[in-house]
Amino acid sequence: STASLYRAPGERPTISFELYPPRTPKGEVSLQRTVLDLAQIGPDYFSVTYGASGATRQTSRDLICSILRDTPVTPIAHLTCVGASEADLTEYVSELLDEGVRDFLALRGDPPAGQEDWQPHPEGLTRASQLVALLRTVVAARLGPADPVSISVAAYPGGDYGPDGQAVVDPSDVAALLEKQDAGADFAITQVFFDPAHYAELVSAARAGGVRIPIIPGLIPLTDPKRLRRLEELTGVRVPEQLLDSLDSAESPDEAYQRGLTASVDLIDGVLAAGAPGLHLYTFNSSKAALDLLDRAGLAPTVALGGTAPQ
Ligand code: FAD
Repeated sequence: STASLYRAPGERPTISFELYPPRTPKGEVSLQRTVLDLAQIGPDYFSVTYGASGATRQTSRDLICSILRDTPVTPIAHLTCVGASEADLTEYVSELLDEGVRDFLALRGDPPAGQEDWQPHPEGLTRASQLVALLRTVVAARLGPADPVSISVAAYPGGDYGPDGQAVVDPSDVAALLEKQDAGADFAITQVFFDPAHYAELVSAARAGGVRIPIIPGLIPLTDPKRLRRLEELTGVRVPEQLLDSLDSAESPDEAYQRGLTASVDLIDGVLAAGAPGLHLYTFNSSKAALDLLDRAGLAPTVALGGTAPQ
């Protein structure tokens, strides 16, 4: 249920991992290992992306079903409005509900590669808030009003600074978050960011704007400079020069990795100090950096880390 996906102030933060559906048979095999390794530490949920980077509905659904079948961990199914009519979305949501999925992350989605502007499907939705509303309607029709379904949504700390060097967030992102809350969202998970001040500022601007739902920071292990540069291109969130310099100037890949872990622990400490109710780690389907990071931060949920998973 929703209550187990984030924690009240004072309790330990939830720990969760984002996975994407495999694109190759090799990726599928290594993902099975990753899921089992991550499940070992008892995370609060796995979220499974949808449509991003060419993933299909079927591969997302297969990954969700394998999590339900092979682990005790709750899967959150990402959904987007891209390329789907309302009828398509209703059908897909109904299928997932039949599989036992009770947790959804409702997104608008990005335009397909090569397309600049967001173009809705002619019989589709144009905003995540509408998808939240559609989900609430489908769930009520199929399960009745009492059945617990959680709906999470995206939030954006960004990476911008004002003239005095203070973190600033885009007011339209706060307006969008409020609209999603009003449509029935239970909590939010953020896009990547690199300065805890951006998370703190988003939470504070959101609260000032009437947003009451918990906002869980989404974090990537800052261990791979190539990945950070690619993410900067994809998301437009600036990676601090100082971080890239520190990783680039390391004497060895291992030293860069260790420096990245240290920077990530600082970021985690910062968001926890700002009251983060959970930590959502973008894993890129690899368990090592995520588990090393939690180990370093002293945040392994239930099981001691550092050992290898039983064969
Ligand atoms: P919306 O909340 O609908 O916002 C869309 C635009 O409209 C924004 O510019 C927003 O500022 C504006 N807007 C909305 N309401 C208002 C308002 N009331 N006033 C002013 N402006 C408004 N993409 C995928 O394709 N697949 C995934 O699996 C996926 N997973 C993600 C997971 C997370 C945690 C995050 C943070 C993002 C993910 N994305 C994914 C990316 C996401 O689809 C894109 O960032 C997309 O461009 C915006 O989606 P949204 O749900 O935030 O859109």
